Amino acid sequence: MLDQATLPAPVPALSIPATTPIPMFTTFVHPKAAQRVQAVLQSTFLSEGKLVQEFETRLSTELGLVNPAALNSGTSALHLALEVAGVGPGDEVILAPQTFIASAIVVVQVGAKPVFADIQYETGNINPADIEHRITARTKAIMAVHWGGYPCDLAEIHAVARRHGLLVIEDAAHAPGATYQGRPIGSISDLTCFSFQAIKHITTGDGGALCARCPEMAREVLRRRWFGIDRAHSPVSEIGEREYDLTDVGFKYHLSDYAAALGLANLDGFQERMSRRRALVRQYREGLQGVAGLQLLEQRPDRESAHWLFGMHVENRLQFIRALKAKGIAASVVHDGIDHNTLFGGKRLELTNQRRFDDTQIHIPLHDGLDASQVAYIIEVIHQGW
Ligand SMILES: *Cc1c(COP(=O)(O)O)cnc(C)c1O
Repeated sequence: MLDQATLPAPVPALSIPATTPIPMFTTFVHPKAAQRVQAVLQSTFLSEGKLVQEFETRLSTELGLVNPAALNSGTSALHLALEVAGVGPGDEVILAPQTFIASAIVVVQVGAKPVFADIQYETGNINPADIEHRITARTKAIMAVHWGGYPCDLAEIHAVARRHGLLVIEDAAHAPGATYQGRPIGSISDLTCFSFQAIKHITTGDGGALCARCPEMAREVLRRRWFGIDRAHSPVSEIGEREYDLTDVGFKYHLSDYAAALGLANLDGFQERMSRRRALVRQYREGLQGVAGLQLLEQRPDRESAHWLFGMHVENRLQFIRALKAKGIAASVVHDGIDHNTLFGGKRLELTNQRRFDDTQIHIPLHDGLDASQVAYIIEVIHQGW
């Protein structure tokens, strides 16, 4: 028998600072969520079923997503998008480095190569003018990441893609509720990927959605999110097994009903939450106009950001972060250019806007737990200088 005295000492609890700072993110859980999830738990029907379908329907009707298939993560959505697009070994996908590693790691997962194009310093999004000269015979797709929720120049990106017969895949993890030329993100490109991870706009704990405009591709998404079995056309036989013939590789990427219940609850009041966010952004932009050493990111009238992040450029960034931290305000770069990772080939000095962006970009709090008085306080602290 184990002697108590020989066990390692218990780990002491971490001490939590008395004054909670204003965080970068919060996780939004609707007050009705617990009730909805509990109903699923009581039903004991936890896996993919009616609620996943209902969640998909509401993603269409309320956010304008086309053929959304609910999945277990945004990364699964990106991976499945590449699979149904037929991107495989030796192929190339062009994308910007200003994103989370998930966007490029899936390209490596399918055996293809991420090819990095430069960004626009003013937005963090891919520069459409830097794509064409990177296209080779192996290029299959352009992946457009809407940094912070601000839509990329989709018209220009689609024009390049059309000229070269490429697919456009959007990483819209930051952009549910965003619009471009009046159309919802999730309805425009061949394939669009969303994330419902904990700190994204709408969370299912973990989850995602993949929208395919082409009905055939949308069917492929549904089949291959569940092992490659077409559930709708594989009835269970008398001997108790589904009748199917597996012809290619599928995945276990579906969302589950207990997670969909959380997603459904969190969709309630989504438009109101978005308009609150927009109001906070207006307050930030007006309050930070003309601050020396600070440059706001671009906002054009032909698109509406989902405002997942509030980003800008500042001089003396480390001092800026420290000045805010001293006043209980979080600030973060969130991500810098991912090309620097060894897996992706290392930092490209030729991507001059990405390198400038890496040096000056910063984000300040923007989330559902933030109110106008906190924003006023943050603006005041920034005006005090750094
Ligand atoms: C969150 C995120 C993802 C991945 O989403 P998960 O749901 O965490 O897998 C992909 N791309 C970007 C840009 C993200 O921010």
